[in-house]
Amino acid sequence: MSIKNDMQFDRKHIWHPYTSMINPLFCYQIIAAENCTLILQDGRQLIDGMSSWWSAIHGYNHPRLNKAITEQISKISHIMFGGITHPPAISLCRKLIEILPTSLECIFLCDSGSVSVEVSMKMAIQYWLGCNKNRQKFLSLKYGYHGDTFAAMSVCDPNNSMHKLWKKYLPENYFVESPKCGFYDSWDIKDFDNFAYLIERYKNELAAVILEPIVQGAGGMRIYNPCYLKLVREYCDYYEILLIIDEIATGFGRTGKLFAMQHSNIEPDILCIGKSLTGGTITLAATITTREIANTISSGSVECLMHGPTFMGNPLACAAALENINILQSGQWIKQVKNIESQLFDKLLPLRILKQVVDVRILGAIGVIETYKILNIEKIQQFFVKHGVWIRPFNNLIYLTPPYIIQNDELDKLINAIILSLECPCHFI
Ligand SMILES: *Cc1c(COP(=O)(O)O)cnc(C)c1O
Repeated sequence: MSIKNDMQFDRKHIWHPYTSMINPLFCYQIIAAENCTLILQDGRQLIDGMSSWWSAIHGYNHPRLNKAITEQISKISHIMFGGITHPPAISLCRKLIEILPTSLECIFLCDSGSVSVEVSMKMAIQYWLGCNKNRQKFLSLKYGYHGDTFAAMSVCDPNNSMHKLWKKYLPENYFVESPKCGFYDSWDIKDFDNFAYLIERYKNELAAVILEPIVQGAGGMRIYNPCYLKLVREYCDYYEILLIIDEIATGFGRTGKLFAMQHSNIEPDILCIGKSLTGGTITLAATITTREIANTISSGSVECLMHGPTFMGNPLACAAALENINILQSGQWIKQVKNIESQLFDKLLPLRILKQVVDVRILGAIGVIETYKILNIEKIQQFFVKHGVWIRPFNNLIYLTPPYIIQNDELDKLINAIILSLECPCHFI
């Protein structure tokens, strides 16, 4: 089959994320990748600025991750987790307990970020049932993103995740105005007023507060002040409401700390991790909670947590995740992320004076350009590919989340492509 036939087949039969089946956005065919380079079907090479949505933090085709997976595949690639356990799951969970706050010690392995969010919400509701309280509402932030399954969607930004479309189907939760005070701004206590008001107002209904720590990702790429998160923890403690922290995008070093919640020096009651957990190789996520919550769930009338995916604790994914954390523990990432951050400060931040640009936001290995106008995704993507880079903007946001191993000249190439792209009016709608 020719490339053209393949692409026509893809267009006709295969759904891609958030696309129309009648008039889908153009797709590029990638046949291999190495470090920070993606290789197109026709041999062209692209510098990767996305890490495949926050996940491939050590770059592609990593020999150590490959080895971990291939060694495991020759033993067993999958086995049911009901009534059975295995060395990769045990080793991974030991390792997670080693790197996480000591209070987080009960781990539920699951297959994707959205599922880990579903599980965290079940845990919160079942915890309160165990306390003989019927608390089933959640408080979350506008511009938040927690996944695409229904419970997860119910705590995502109501506009971005189109709550109107699912009105009769979605559980209704409460939304706080998104923090406005940026990471580097001096803290303004007014930024917390709306949160303080809503948690007081709904305190008797709330099972938990759920939010992304410091960086709100797919809901708007906003980076907020660590004092905000610190106050969230204090208010949750005061009102005795659980705090679920969704580190699925921010975990494993992306923001310059191993976990973004460390910017505020706080710990959650329930933690979600995913995305880069396996270094971008295979899907895996986890929901982790305290002994007290686990015990309360287990002593309620149901006596067990009601969840159990078919591919729970997949051995290949566990082996990859363990090796991912081993690589992180060599400590290289700290310098790599700092280096990316300082290059973004030098070269991306100055774009904030351009007339097309509302704001430039930077933290760790994350760089965000917010433009006034909505971007023409297909056109700007075409432009980026022509310039040898892979950047996938959405709405009015062009952002970089490159692999930590990216070289200075590669990051320069990404930034230069962004600078050039802003010059063409045809890239905006
Ligand atoms: C991507 C993401 C999710 C959903 O994870 P999936 O693996 O896509 O289901 C949830 N929360 C946050 C913060 C994310 O970035």
